Amino acid sequence: MRVDAIPLVRPSLGERELAAVAQVFASGWPAGQGPSGKALEADLTRRYGVADAVAVSNCGAALHLALLALGVTEGDEVIVADYTFPAPAHAARYVGATPVFADVRPDTGTVDPQAVAALIGPRTVGVIAVDTLGLPADYDELNDLTRRHGLFLVEDAACAIGATYRGRPAGALAPVACLSFHGRKGITSGEGGALLTTDPALAVDARLRSSFGIGSIFDQAQVVGLPIPEFTEIGYNYKLSDIAAAILQVQLTRIEELLERRRAVAAHYAHLLADEDLVTLPHVPDDRSHAWQSYLVTLHPDVDRATVATALRTHGIGCGHGTWASHRQPVYASSQHCPVSADLARRNLAIPMHAELTPDQVERVVATLRTALHTRTRAGAA
Ligand SMILES: *Cc1c(COP(=O)(O)O)cnc(C)c1O
Repeated sequence: MRVDAIPLVRPSLGERELAAVAQVFASGWPAGQGPSGKALEADLTRRYGVADAVAVSNCGAALHLALLALGVTEGDEVIVADYTFPAPAHAARYVGATPVFADVRPDTGTVDPQAVAALIGPRTVGVIAVDTLGLPADYDELNDLTRRHGLFLVEDAACAIGATYRGRPAGALAPVACLSFHGRKGITSGEGGALLTTDPALAVDARLRSSFGIGSIFDQAQVVGLPIPEFTEIGYNYKLSDIAAAILQVQLTRIEELLERRRAVAAHYAHLLADEDLVTLPHVPDDRSHAWQSYLVTLHPDVDRATVATALRTHGIGCGHGTWASHRQPVYASSQHCPVSADLARRNLAIPMHAELTPDQVERVVATLRTALHTRTRAGAA
């Protein structure tokens, strides 16, 4: 990488996280469901005001465990937000269910409750909504709709740590929510995730299945005598290591600090690009706040995105396509149409967004982007 390169994403991990890892080394319990894991779960439960939190290896695992605990099975249909990293649709497929893709709002990219309503059928068992790139979906409408039809609602809050909707935190907007602590999310332990729920029994089920179907080995080692635990479920190994949990305990205390820095970057981009006709800036409705996991601009239809991306990368500036129109992924072989999602997937461009960006770097991104936009429109090339 060039010395003056500006990466698309960058984690904020430092001395405090390193010190927490050193403590786990000294404790002698680096595996999962030990003292750090339990402490992290207690921190999450308190922060989100939920009944319980289960620390797991990643958000994909949390979604899988959620659907298992909710009893989703072969032949069921799960309605999923279309414009997203397709983990929700994958989760439906893990349990043999069929993902049904719901189109999104053109202004926010979040799942459109009317699209969801139109897809409810006799085999529908629930809905997975996504806080798209950090912006919460329309949970009042989604909770009403799912309650009325007797469906479950899962919030995929993988990108949304720190975001809010009508005064409540993302991660506590549906009866079950899944978080990601992957290196490209707002707070991170490299890989990691959590399942949050208002239903204590659901958490018990998810925790058991996250550890091969037996309870915590750490707990069993503390018992006097030799009770032999028995396997009651074909569980998985989805445990979060105590090393990762210790890192996350520190990162949780930094959510506001890191989000403040991302907010400043977003405000700076919005200011510098306000008069740029060839891009549409992200829209944040008044009733919610964005976690700014990514910053996406929507390019004018005349702009050739690949050429703009090449120009940015040539200047050492990271960029990306944003996220996916899930229904278009070959693995699902779907014949559905989600035109809004497909259009966003075609025209959106992700530009650098993380807590380590400096104002100078933001200015350089915008200057390079503007030059690229105005010399590389399709109309200009014709
Ligand atoms: C990143 C992401 C995931 C997957 O998270 P992992 O922790 O990597 O499994 C799931 N859903 C959405 C919306 C994401 O953006």
